[in-house]
Amino acid sequence: MNPEEYADRFLENDELLARVQQNIADRGMPAISIAPGYGRLLTMLVAATKAEQVLEIGALGGYSGICLARGLSPEGRLTSLELKQDYADLALAHLTEAGFGHQVEFKVGLAAESLEQLKQEGRTFDFFFIDADKENYPVYLEYAIELANPGAIIAGDNTFLRGRTLNPDKNGPSVQAMRRFNELMATDERLIGTILPAYDGLAVAMVKPRQP
Ligand code: MG
Repeated sequence: MNPEEYADRFLENDELLARVQQNIADRGMPAISIAPGYGRLLTMLVAATKAEQVLEIGALGGYSGICLARGLSPEGRLTSLELKQDYADLALAHLTEAGFGHQVEFKVGLAAESLEQLKQEGRTFDFFFIDADKENYPVYLEYAIELANPGAIIAGDNTFLRGRTLNPDKNGPSVQAMRRFNELMATDERLIGTILPAYDGLAVAMVKPRQP
């Protein structure tokens, strides 16, 4: 048993998330939902920071959306950006089944365009979860910092790319983008961040209050 399997054993009696996973698999969608231990961490971080406005980049089937929404107060809102309409539809169905349908809003299309739109509208957020196309992680991070309320949390999933990020022989665009993202999350002066090395890697950072 590896450390992740050991930790997941405490989290496996989650019928709703198990059903969501099954539905995603049944539809032939990629089995890339966030790991159970990190899903629980998202719930805890949203609740602990009392985040009211949460932005998710990459909905897939709504698994991580449910984890994020579980941490929200009844007044909290989840805005979820998703490239594919059928994925957004399934994610909304799952969030509705989980009791959060009235708290979530989906924006379908290219995430960078939706982020630019949110910026133009002057929207700000308390929590960001980045889990979409890896080549654009540094772009999404810059938008997150721009749209962040002081003290906002940013989390990014799959920062190890199943080991490719750490492999010096791998240098494709996704790998290079992820290395840049990890470096920024851990070292950018606007952030206080770190990389959690379990599962496929999760980078987590807090946006420092802006200096006057
Ligand atoms: Mg992921």
